[in-house]
Amino acid sequence: MGKRKEKFAEEKAIFLEHIQKSGLRRTAQRDLILEIFLSTEEHLTSEDLYWLVHKKDPSVGHTTVYRTMKLLTEAGLAREVRFGDNKTYYEHHYDHEHHDHMICTACGKVIEFFSPEIESLQDQMADKFGFKPTHHSLRMWGFCSDCREASATLGIAPSGAQPRVRVRSVTGS
Ligand SMILES: [Zn+2]
Ligand SMILES: [Zn+2]
Ligand SMILES: [Zn+2]
Repeated sequence: MGKRKEKFAEEKAIFLEHIQKSGLRRTAQRDLILEIFLSTEEHLTSEDLYWLVHKKDPSVGHTTVYRTMKLLTEAGLAREVRFGDNKTYYEHHYDHEHHDHMICTACGKVIEFFSPEIESLQDQMADKFGFKPTHHSLRMWGFCSDCREASATLGIAPSGAQPRVRVRSVTGS
């Protein structure tokens, strides 16, 4: 078995255990949602995932996708992230290294990064305030290298409002 397949089997086993513990039944629909989620490497909303699932099985409803993503999150396989557009995105959590995000407010591109220096500075800062962090999420909003030129002509003034992110989403079309 390949590495990817092995990991997939492991994640599937974790999900099944969680489903059983929650007193739920294993269904083909839940299995399909899990498979599709694991096959993506992006940050997707429940709505995005719904459209991907819909292509394989149009009988799966929005609510089933939404509830299954909640189950995957509880089981520790998915992680919720928010990028400031009032949507909840899901990314892989199990066996994935911690990382932080840069979000392009023009095209919605999300860049993942990890800096040991920043991580250790954050810990030092928490120490200084006697704060015990349980988790953190560092997010930077701005313009990606492709969108920087366009932004120069827009002349964006600093605002106190939450950045508005124009995220493209997966649709059925
Ligand atoms: Zn971090
Ligand atoms: Zn961009
Ligand atoms: Zn991420």
